Amino acid sequence: MLNAVLPRGCAGCDMPDMVLCPSCEDIFARSQCYALGGVEMGFGYVCAAYRGAARQAFLAWKDHGDEECTPAFAQALAALALRVDIEQAAHGREILIVPAPSSSRSVRRRGRWHMLPLVRRLARLLREGGVNARVAPVLTMRGVARKSVEMRGSSQRAGRIGGHIVMRRGADIEGSLVMLIDDIVTTGSTMRQCVGVLGSSGAIVLTALALAQAGESQRSPDRQRAVR
Ligand SMILES: [Zn+2]
Repeated sequence: MLNAVLPRGCAGCDMPDMVLCPSCEDIFARSQCYALGGVEMGFGYVCAAYRGAARQAFLAWKDHGDEECTPAFAQALAALALRVDIEQAAHGREILIVPAPSSSRSVRRRGRWHMLPLVRRLARLLREGGVNARVAPVLTMRGVARKSVEMRGSSQRAGRIGGHIVMRRGADIEGSLVMLIDDIVTTGSTMRQCVGVLGSSGAIVLTALALAQAGESQRSPDRQRAVR
């Protein structure tokens, strides 16, 4: 109750009385794409570069509990999905929206799995836009050891570090169309792992969307171009 009446500033630039001001919202419409193997569309897409006000708003939402940003971020992802014409890519078939998993440790630390409300809102916005979409949180992270004494040997540890994203037990996505969603792309390694696991499970991954992309200035221009 108290939060509703306390004044707040824009999560990106502190402009008074706004969750995300129009100019910060606009930053999340400056989408970019990057080459991504294993997806039907050949590219992954991000809403914004991870810097300046976009970075500040992203961190407020992800690490400082500013959940009021979720609707604006879901809106940015929905707009991006429509802009890259996800519906055309799916030929009207149902699209499963799969969030990239977070480790149970980071969920405990944040007190929430920040991705779930985001993808739920995104799915609702897409359905309102005429896209047949629903959330399917089929990926999870296999537990990583907290202490080395828990491990029997270095080979076991190496195996765990090698690929810790797995399908949830009992999840069946054989033949399904998937749109993968993560919060941020850094090296792209998480996206590639998720795409690999989904593909091995028989899903067709259309593309992967994220809110922000870090370190894009280090990428070569031919692997990076603006999306309209
Ligand atoms: Zn702002």
